[in-house]
Amino acid sequence: MAEIQLYVDGRELTVEDSKTILEAATENGVYIPHLCHHSDLNPAGICRVCLVEADGILVPSCRAPVAAGMVVKTGGDLVNKARRLAVELLVVNHHDDCLACGKNNDCKLQEVARYVGVDKERLKRLRSRELRPVDDSHPFIVRDYNKCVLCGICVRTCDEIPCVEAIDFSFRGYDTKISTLGDKPLQESKCVSCGECLVRCPVGALLPKNGAQPAYEVKTVCSYCGCGCGIYLGVRDGKVARVRGNQDSPVNDGELCVKGRFGYSYINHPDRLTTPLIKRNGKFEEASWDEALELVTEKFQEVQNKYGAESLGGLSSARATNEDNYLFQKLLRSLGSNSVDHCARL
Ligand code: SF4
Ligand code: SF4
Ligand code: SF4
Repeated sequence: MAEIQLYVDGRELTVEDSKTILEAATENGVYIPHLCHHSDLNPAGICRVCLVEADGILVPSCRAPVAAGMVVKTGGDLVNKARRLAVELLVVNHHDDCLACGKNNDCKLQEVARYVGVDKERLKRLRSRELRPVDDSHPFIVRDYNKCVLCGICVRTCDEIPCVEAIDFSFRGYDTKISTLGDKPLQESKCVSCGECLVRCPVGALLPKNGAQPAYEVKTVCSYCGCGCGIYLGVRDGKVARVRGNQDSPVNDGELCVKGRFGYSYINHPDRLTTPLIKRNGKFEEASWDEALELVTEKFQEVQNKYGAESLGGLSSARATNEDNYLFQKLLRSLGSNSVDHCARL
């Protein structure tokens, strides 16, 4: 890959020739407002908020490649006017109730509208659309069409990350919306509930059903299967309130499946066993680990004496660490049995 020089707001930048103008600017600390761009996804150039002037022509910087000697202006009358129009057209039918919105203060629309500036009086005159019903059919995701800015990030995410293609743009003009095949509720579509669209939606159009904000996070590894995805557990009131993928984890790059992202209620579930149980007189009773292990040793010996060592077998768990699984097979082999397996084929 060759390096080239271009000029952004009068500054000479040296970048790889494969970059877009937006990437070149961002890498060099120059802010260009954008909404439909996400660094995990192929650029789409839908929202037109990232318009810049390149060699005198307005181009969407998320899709325009850099060129040697190119002169880029990220501001100025031409750029600002075009951007403001793009943002106003996005905001105009956005039923904003920022104070009650789960995305407040973490919202890309707020960010770009604040940066670009919008004419509130003009917006009032243009506003027309009626409120649309919210789709809360899904067990984990709420889709609020009234806050959707049609950036297409959820559609591209579903196509490019889990490769499920459960959603797409549908209808035309003012009626355009993101929907499933046959405009059915998300829960009845082929959505696999990975939640990858949810984490990338730049506004409050896709929000988790459980809206609790964690007080702090704990970095750990998902214990559901043998993949070992890096996660952060969000904790509130001593309980897990949310899970997010660790983007620095080489295993999953921040991506998660439905179990890792949403299946955490078992951790604090009242039915969860937290102590060994021993059946006495037909009823399970709580016991200490020493009591339980003694009983297991006794039973193992009984079986071994009666039927031979090969009659023993063990099933290990993909939720245990490699080291624990290694010790488990060692235990079985030391008892004289090679019958050991695991459940890692999830
Ligand atoms: S999506 Fe953003 S702009 Fe819209 S109501 Fe929520 S916080 Fe406000
Ligand atoms: S739901 Fe969110 S990600 Fe999808 S198009 Fe609307 S604003 Fe974009
Ligand atoms: S949750 Fe996953 S599968 Fe379902 S629509 Fe979103 S990205 Fe697609």
